[in-house]
Amino acid sequence: MKVLAVGCHPDDLEIACFGTLARYVREGARVSICHVANGNLGHAVIHPEKLRRIRIGEAKEAAARIGVKDVVTLDVGDLEVRAKDAALLRLMVDLVRRAQPDVIITHDPNDYMQDHREVSQLVFDGSFSASVPFYETPTKGTAGIAPLFYMDTLAGVGFLPEQYVDVSDTVDLKIAGLAEHHSQIDWMKEHDGIDFLEFVRTCTRFRGLQSGVAYAEGFRASPAWPRLSTKRLLP
Ligand SMILES: [Zn+2]
Repeated sequence: MKVLAVGCHPDDLEIACFGTLARYVREGARVSICHVANGNLGHAVIHPEKLRRIRIGEAKEAAARIGVKDVVTLDVGDLEVRAKDAALLRLMVDLVRRAQPDVIITHDPNDYMQDHREVSQLVFDGSFSASVPFYETPTKGTAGIAPLFYMDTLAGVGFLPEQYVDVSDTVDLKIAGLAEHHSQIDWMKEHDGIDFLEFVRTCTRFRGLQSGVAYAEGFRASPAWPRLSTKRLLP
């Protein structure tokens, strides 16, 4: 099983699906992680170029916590993600062809901010375009149109999962991964009084409450041909 998870910012996958990715790793899947934006505007004091470097590093540390080494950034500046950008689409197609995923996870089309929604569309379009032989990318050959799962929105607002993954055994890894994002977590705690680790643990607990386990993550399958499957593809 090969899994490609594409988040917008470094830390988005940690928030919504890191418990699931940790389970995939435990079950022997090959997991590739990508964030499209570099997170360079995610701070009120640290300047963008410095923050960009910090956040790309934090994402690698977070992925290492769940045993994932394949971490890619498409390095787009925050608030500049455009699904219709032809060069960005080509980067996404190349990523998909390299990963050859059996399943893809990304943002819900209705998530709370513009860049997240653009990434959702970019992944949807890119994973289709990857199947088109004469659309050329540095990686040769095509990829099949993989089933696509949308991960939870921030705080679960407006998102009713169709499938749940029990992450009771991996929630601590998930939180440890998220905690690697010091530039975000420490800042929110010191300056806004928000304990974001507790925030995310609570959301994961709530999905667990809904599905009858201690902790869970929720997903919806993209309802577009030919991405639906009779198989259980999530852990
Ligand atoms: Zn984000």
